[in-house]
Amino acid sequence: MKAAICYEPNTPLKVEEVTLDEPQANEVLVKLVATGVCHSDLHFIKGEMPQPMPVVMGHEGAGIVEKVGPGVTTLQPGDHVIFMVSFSCGKCRFCVEGRPTRCVENLPIMSMATLPGGGKRLRKGDQELHHLFGLACYAEYAVVHERSAVKIRDDAPFEVICLLGCGVSSGIGAAINTAGVRPGESVVIYGCGGVGLSAVMGARLAGAGVLIAVDTLDRKLEKAKELGADYVINASQEDPMAKVLELTGGGADYALECIGNVDVMAQAFGSIHGGGKFIVVGMAPLGTTLNIQSYEFLLGKTIIGCVQGDIKASVDVPRYVDLYMDGKLPIDKLITKSYNLDEINEAFGALERGDVIKSVIRF
Ligand SMILES: [Zn+2]
Ligand SMILES: [Zn+2]
Repeated sequence: MKAAICYEPNTPLKVEEVTLDEPQANEVLVKLVATGVCHSDLHFIKGEMPQPMPVVMGHEGAGIVEKVGPGVTTLQPGDHVIFMVSFSCGKCRFCVEGRPTRCVENLPIMSMATLPGGGKRLRKGDQELHHLFGLACYAEYAVVHERSAVKIRDDAPFEVICLLGCGVSSGIGAAINTAGVRPGESVVIYGCGGVGLSAVMGARLAGAGVLIAVDTLDRKLEKAKELGADYVINASQEDPMAKVLELTGGGADYALECIGNVDVMAQAFGSIHGGGKFIVVGMAPLGTTLNIQSYEFLLGKTIIGCVQGDIKASVDVPRYVDLYMDGKLPIDKLITKSYNLDEINEAFGALERGDVIKSVIRF
């Protein structure tokens, strides 16, 4: 089968023939139908986040289960599934406490780029290949742990709902679960890429009162308005912090940073009122440091981090799919282009230039 491999940072991905082993205990073989093109992949490709190489990239995959390994109880051939970027073992302290995105197995899987437990099922000739996030879904097929895939209804379009495996559920969940936006509260979202616009949709769905979106590109701000923002601020033309304070009468109840830029994080923190909450959603390059005035904590402000919007995947993701199918969560409006696997480098180029909000690889 064909797969897109990263051999070293800052080089184009290579689409090559590779072999994939049979699913082993608790693993499933999935035929991919669509995989989203995500900024996190770009961080790995550019070497901003370390990653063992060579690695088959891609983590926002959706497809149909073709075969199950021994001991699999939650899935069967023919099931439609979405892959989850954050794994949950179901057994560790965090999983048991109901915080599955903080599962202790997440970090090893991400940093080792293997399946849970350390296995690799991909090879190019004699050379073993790593699985990005234990998923590796810029490929025609993937073998993943059964707990990395969430079963969803059969009538939802893969090329849309694949986005719910990572960025889109991160944004929606950050507004609804992490922030816990309640009807009438004010929210400002910094960054209108796929994650930020999903946070706009999530905050709208939660009943936000004043909902403000900030970006430096007008076409992304137009999209934010289309998805429910009441006000938009172009940060290249005016001071977003001053404008948020003006629009909210002294600061927003919540600010969400959805870019991964420490300077923008400082602005977001400065946009909430005393007692307000600042949620860090974006993934800043490893080693960067956030500088904020410590006196602001005397104002009762809170900073909250999150992983994949603190979702409980097996419950929340099928729910988001239903909301999309009912027209209440228009995630299809994020997708501006689709590509085939051979065009993967073109897809990343367009993402990096900001030509697309979200694009999808279709198999
Ligand atoms: Zn992603
Ligand atoms: Zn766990």
